[in-house]
Amino acid sequence: MTLLFEENQGILEIMLDGLADGILVVDSSGSVLFANKAVKDLFELSREPVGRDILEVVRNHRIHKLVRETIDSKQPTTEEIELTSGQREAGHLVLSVNAEPFPGPLGDQYFRVILRDDTQRVETEQVRRDFVANASHELRTPLSIINGYIENLRDGAVEEKELAHRFLGIMKKHGDRIARIVEDMLTISKFESAAQDPTKASVFDLQGCALDVVERLDPLIEEKQTSITVTPKDSASLICGDRFYWDQIFFNLIENALKQNIRPGLNVKISFEDQGTQFRICISDDGVGIPMADLPFIFKRFYRVEKHHSKEIKGTGLGLSIVKRAIESHGGTVEASSTPGKETAFVIHVPKGDVEEAISREPERKEQPFEAH
Ligand code: ADP
Repeated sequence: MTLLFEENQGILEIMLDGLADGILVVDSSGSVLFANKAVKDLFELSREPVGRDILEVVRNHRIHKLVRETIDSKQPTTEEIELTSGQREAGHLVLSVNAEPFPGPLGDQYFRVILRDDTQRVETEQVRRDFVANASHELRTPLSIINGYIENLRDGAVEEKELAHRFLGIMKKHGDRIARIVEDMLTISKFESAAQDPTKASVFDLQGCALDVVERLDPLIEEKQTSITVTPKDSASLICGDRFYWDQIFFNLIENALKQNIRPGLNVKISFEDQGTQFRICISDDGVGIPMADLPFIFKRFYRVEKHHSKEIKGTGLGLSIVKRAIESHGGTVEASSTPGKETAFVIHVPKGDVEEAISREPERKEQPFEAH
């Protein structure tokens, strides 16, 4: 079947409107001849762009300059251009802009501009760069401490048994810190490798998992004279998920409450609420809390509250970042709130998943053993 010219054009427009990239066609005076839907969305246009000057449409001098350069030189140009949140209601955006003359003789009059939203890629690269810089910084400190003590031992301290013993103890502490940072970094990088989702789904009792973690932390709980309550008592909270990561989630959150509070007599509450298709889990304490100014950043990698940055408090600043990623990989969310001295709460919402279906797939199912990944 042959299509009429108008039909053809209609189909072409529908196809171009379906593209995520913005596509503009301008003539040699810089007047817009065509703009697809993505252009209207990117620049939040309320008026029809066709017939207007490109600068009026994009309201960005760098994009305008790039298009003008292509019109004048008849050569392709590409640049990464940032639109700030001040320029767009929907927030900041990084565009990869490419302008080219049409092929053949039409290239004297018509120019095509492709605008690709590269915000995600640029932000991911920035996060990677920051991660490497922060990780190197965090590893460098304990490493140079270890090296310093090795020098001291070589300079004679090794002959003095008691001193050597003390130095070795300090070196061990910093070696352990390096090991913990590396382990946490590996966990995070597993979450970030798009190729594999690190969560293996099977059915287990979420509350049982929390109770196991509390048991593991018993020595610290006793040492700090902390009271921990888990409610409701003895109720199974079956979920389809990866127990290995839930173990880490509970461990990091409960250990944080314990280690951030030096004074004895802390109260920690862990509650489970069955909300039908999801669980609401709240882990709260009545300790020193998190200042309001720090709250928006605590899930970021390597972020530690300055005020708590005491040498006595061990930590990598990666714990909450693992918590957030692990919960999100189960389709859930986590939010933190804090009124220092009163209540610091981490509230998790997580879908149960298709527990029935997963159980039917595992007829011989026993409680899923805890296995290291
Ligand atoms: P860290 O390894 O330092 O514990 P996290 O990512 O687990 O790193 O936590 C980030 C920061 O959030 C901690 O350094 C601490 O200052 C703060 N924080 C987390 N949980 C609590 C809590 N329950 N009470 C007070 N501060 C907390």
